[in-house]
Formats: sequence, C-alpha cells, structure tokens
Amino acid sequence: TVIYIGAATCGRSAGALKTKKAFETELAKQNVKAEIVEVGCFGPCYTEPLICIARPGKTKLFFQNVDGERAEELVTGYLQTGEIPRDYLFAAVPEDGIEREKELPYLDEKPEFARQKRILFASFGFTDPTNIEHYLVHDGYLALEKSLQEGPDMVLTEIKKSALRGRGGGGFPAARKWEAGRKATGHPKYVVCNADEGDPGAFMDRSVLEGDPHAVLEGMAIAGLTIGSEKGYIYVRAEYPLAIARLQNAIDQAKEKNLLGANILGTDFSFDIELFQGAGAFVCGESTALTQSIQGYRGMPKASPRPRTTDEGLFDKPTLLNNVKTFAYVPKIINSGGESFAAIGTEKSKGTAVFALTGMVKHCGLIEVPMGTTLREIVFELGGGMVGESPFKAIQSGGPSGGCLPAHTLDTPVDYDSLVSAGAMMGSGGLVVMDESTCMVDIARYFLDFTQKESCGQCTLCKLGTKQMLNILEDIVAGRGKEGDIELLLEVGEAVNAGSLCGLGKSAANPVLTTIKYFRDEYEAHIRDKA
Ligand code: SF4
Repeated sequence: TVIYIGAATCGRSAGALKTKKAFETELAKQNVKAEIVEVGCFGPCYTEPLICIARPGKTKLFFQNVDGERAEELVTGYLQTGEIPRDYLFAAVPEDGIEREKELPYLDEKPEFARQKRILFASFGFTDPTNIEHYLVHDGYLALEKSLQEGPDMVLTEIKKSALRGRGGGGFPAARKWEAGRKATGHPKYVVCNADEGDPGAFMDRSVLEGDPHAVLEGMAIAGLTIGSEKGYIYVRAEYPLAIARLQNAIDQAKEKNLLGANILGTDFSFDIELFQGAGAFVCGESTALTQSIQGYRGMPKASPRPRTTDEGLFDKPTLLNNVKTFAYVPKIINSGGESFAAIGTEKSKGTAVFALTGMVKHCGLIEVPMGTTLREIVFELGGGMVGESPFKAIQSGGPSGGCLPAHTLDTPVDYDSLVSAGAMMGSGGLVVMDESTCMVDIARYFLDFTQKESCGQCTLCKLGTKQMLNILEDIVAGRGKEGDIELLLEVGEAVNAGSLCGLGKSAANPVLTTIKYFRDEYEAHIRDKA
C-alpha cells in the first residue's frame, strides 16, 4: 500500500506535513505496513491536504481535507479492512489490468478534470519529486538520451513540428529562438531558465519546479546540446524555498547518475546547471534585467535598440532564455513527437496551457487544458462556478500586465491571440475570478500599486506616469474623484504604455485601460457619488 500526500507549498500550507506525521504515528501504532510518499501538487488546491491511497490491485482513491483525525480513521478503516469509505473524493483512472468499479466516480468523469489534458502534469500526484528513480520510471531522461543519439537537428525538427511557443507570456516560437541560439557564433553560450514568477495569483511555475524538477533540468540539458552550451542557470526567486531545495536535490541526483555534468552518459557533451536566487523583483522577469541580476548588477532592463539575447545575453554571450514550462514541455515533445503536441490546441497556439485558477471560483487550483478552451469552460466547469450567490463579474488574465475581462467575453478561447484581441493577455498563466461584489476601480488600483512599486525607475513615464495614475485611482476610490479623471487616466495610461522601455511599463496601464473600457460606469459612479 502506498499513501501519496500532496506536499507542495499549497499542501504544506494546508497542513500536509501534520497529516503525514499523523499517518506515520497511526501506521506504527496499528502495525500497518504502508509506504508514505510526498508528491507535488495534484491540482485541486481547494481540497488540500489531499491524499491518495493505492492498495495493491485496487483503484487509487483520493481523499480531501485529510487532517490528523481523518488519517487515523483511514488507517483504522480503509487500510485495515479494505472497505471503501463513503467520503472519498474520486478514484484515479485505473491502470491496465484493474477494472473500473461502477459505483466509483472516476477522475476523468469529474467536470473539473474531464476537460483537462495533462502533459506537464501527467505524473503529478504519483511521483516523488525528490527521488530521481520515480522520474526515470516515467521515461525520465529518455528524451535527453535520444537527443544525444540523434543530435540537435532532430531536436529542432521536433520543436518546430510541435509549434511550441514560449510559455513566459510573450508566446515567441520556441524553434525560432533555439535556431537563433544554435546559429549564434559567440562562445561560451548559456541556457537560462526564467523561474522568476512574480504575478499576483500565479503559482504555476513554482508547482512545476516543486512537482517535477527533473523535467526542467532535462529540457535545459537538451537545449544546451542543441545550441552548443555547457552551462545553464536557473533564475529562481528566493521566495520559493521548497522549489529551490527540490531543484538543488534534483541537480545533485542527476549529476550522480551522469545525466548532468561532464561527459553526460559517456558522450563528449557536458552540461552543468547552477541555481541563482533572485531577490523577488518583478522586473527581473524581463530578460535583460534577469541577466544583469545574475551578473551581479542591479536588475534593470537594458536600453533599446539592443542585440537579441540569443546573440548577446548573459555575460554578453549568446544565451537561450526560456520559461520553466517551456523547458519542461521539451522532454515530452521529444518523447511523443512534435506532431502529437501540435495536434492539441488551436491553429496558432498549440499544446496545452497551464493556469493557476484563483479568486471567487469553487475549485481553485492548478489546471492544464488544451489551448482553445474557453474562459467560460474554465470558470464554470473546471472551476465549478462561483462561490456563494454572487454572479460572475470579471476575470483577470495575465497578471498586472494583463486585463480584466467582463462576462460577455467569457466565450473567448484561451490562446495567445484571442486573449490579446479581447483586451487581456495569456501572461504566464494566472487567472483571477471576481464576482459582483468586487470593485473594479479598486482592482485597477491594486494592480497599478503593484507595478508602480515594482518599476525599476529608469523611464520617466513608467516611474512618474504610474505614480500619477495611482494617485488619481486612490482619490477616486476614496471618494475624492473629479470630473476629467477618467480622461486623464486614459491619456496618461496610453502614454505610459507607449513611452516605457520594457514589458513592465509597456503593459502597466492595461488593468486600468481595460477596466475603464469594460466597467466605466463604476468609475463614473465613484466620481458622481463621491464614494
Ligand atoms: Fe524600468 Fe519601468 Fe522602464 Fe521597465 S518600463 S525599464 S520597469 S522604468
């Protein structure tokens, strides 16, 4: 018998480690033999602490909100007697050789999972991220081995066929970037993973790092082989201590197995990865600020025009920089072939999208859906609909750089281009759902307060324009709004977006511009009613 306990940061904050201790104590007390395995986030964070029990030859069963008392009951009951308790959450899809029991609701029949397509999360919930053997059993490092045998041309062909676009937010075609990295002539070359996730409400990258660190390392090693680099850096924010610990552990284990380091698997390819802890500045998600930060300078974006990062990046050398999820997709694409990845999604956005779904939905957590799934399906099927009686009002997509979309846009498919057309953006994958009780002017103020504080201060419009907008918004929310404030917000907002250097400033006004576009009546009511 194996007891899987979701022990990522979300599970731990809900008490997963206490649950684990309770199981250990009860198993010893009742002399029951079972292995306890800490796993990454399975997705439905609203059910934490979430556990899964696998009895030999039986369907795996999930139980939600398992505290110490419930752990004791499960050991006394299900583990000892085999009798299925009535309050289990759902059953996992049975493995080959195990029949479905009719009365059990299975994972793939539940609305919050039925629409999901799990590529990145395929093994989440059943593998121990601290044990490389678990990764190896699930075809881990097979893609690297294949890439070493068949060479960079095969990798580029498959990435091209997959039409994978960078998952950091911009959606730049990965194959074009990797090709440019390969063609770059400088030496040495670097591979950099951007794990500086900082959007409010976003925790997708953290969950991938905590749940499947080897997938990111393997993707980076394949990137190194492809462009001719021997050194990679992961820029991870210091606020992610569990992700950092699991990454370092994974690097050490991969080196022990000769899957990283010198002469990987006996070939002449060497590749090492170093962790760099960022201090949590949002602007360091911008490529040139990130590379400056690794070099020991203040994290500030470089002025334009400037050479492409693939020509002159880290230490002014050719650098391939991608997001956590982009690297993590690569081994899956090499293993299953680029075409199978490209068979999922829309015409211009292929594969799956990973979102952190939060706010006023019943089922908050992590989801992975085919590109093209609509916002409505995400909120009302995967998210289970709204909490309480208050109806849906808006969804914020793309964090502080994105926008707030109202109810009439709910049929927008989630893909890079449709979200931009609707006035938001994909961003790295944060979705915050708001109900009718939410003040949209206050939401705009919240996001602008965030970007204003995170501005590095080198562009006048980003530094002072956002401050002026914030002052106006604070006045409006406090009932001190004046006639002409909305027009002034629009004028300054457009100037900030047009006159800033980097993505932070270029999109800083978006939450204000979209809330004025879709919820102007709320601004007017605040100003008119002085409340
Ligand atoms: Fe810094 Fe803002 Fe200019 Fe970006 S736009 S470089 S964050 S001041």
